[in-house]
Amino acid sequence: QAGWDFLRRYLKPVTCCVFTRAQYVPGYLQAKSVVIPPNIDPVAPKNQHMTPGTVRAILRHIDVIGGPAARGKRVFVRTDGTPTRVERKALIVRAGEPPAPETPLVVQVSRWDRLKDPLGVMRGFVRFAVRKESDGAALLLVGPESAAVADDPEGAEVYQEVVRAWEKLDDRLRERVHLVSLPMDDAEENAAMVNAIQRHATVVVQKSLREGFGLTVTEAMWKGRPVIGGAVGGIQDQIEHEKTGLLVDPENEEAFAAALVWLFEDPKRAAGIGRRARARVKREYLGVQSLLRWAALVSCLIEGRPVPSLGK
Ligand code: UDP
Repeated sequence: QAGWDFLRRYLKPVTCCVFTRAQYVPGYLQAKSVVIPPNIDPVAPKNQHMTPGTVRAILRHIDVIGGPAARGKRVFVRTDGTPTRVERKALIVRAGEPPAPETPLVVQVSRWDRLKDPLGVMRGFVRFAVRKESDGAALLLVGPESAAVADDPEGAEVYQEVVRAWEKLDDRLRERVHLVSLPMDDAEENAAMVNAIQRHATVVVQKSLREGFGLTVTEAMWKGRPVIGGAVGGIQDQIEHEKTGLLVDPENEEAFAAALVWLFEDPKRAAGIGRRARARVKREYLGVQSLLRWAALVSCLIEGRPVPSLGK
């Protein structure tokens, strides 16, 4: 609030403000603000189409899954159009073998940050894993190699906390939890790894305690995955509960486990949610939608027409 109070006089002469969520607009800007949510690029390495063979080949190469050598090629297309092979490997903390290709995976991809609640995800997964509906599922907590994100000084510390909590799990459960650190030397190669992991997931989770918008949710929905998200920030805009995903109180680990059961006990229902999730992203959150929204806004401003604002 102090920040917004400070900015108030500087924002007085501004014609129009753009926010990612209506809830983030301070009262005094209501009448001249519009909402344009973030978007994803469907052809970037993070989100481009991948055949199941390519997904398997990448995951096997980076050691996220085991099983027989995959027949597909571990390739992605760079933003400049160059086809490229995934060469680097992931750094994985695990107790046994890599999961078989058929093992159902619950996946959270995030920076190692307390607000992403990796420890809570692990505890919630443990509650789920002892249920028969879990069907031998494994949990993948995926993040960047901990020292790699320059604007995230706490990352290494949080990662160590996660490793220590993992070491304390019962043997049987420890084998079902994999801590995956992805190399960040080549951002596009890293993106291709995230893409393959999200595509292979049975369920993607983003149990954040706080969130700005939550692009990992958009990315997973685009890939037709059923997503369980914490009911915070922009995750609530993206997921319509029980229609295009599941929203849970992120402080309630039992509710999180129950949401996993709900998706696992009825794969058809989960697939329907994934299909509707993809359709929603196609309608609302691709780059082209943002472009149209910005174009409409700019033409209003150029022509001196009133901007369709949030204020009544
Ligand atoms: N991400 C990534 N590699 C990783 C972990 C995360 O590329 O090892 C990406 C993820 O795919 C997403 C972004 O980082 O595009 C995180 O954005 P989000 O809005 O979910 O959360 P933030 O990190 O901005 O709080």
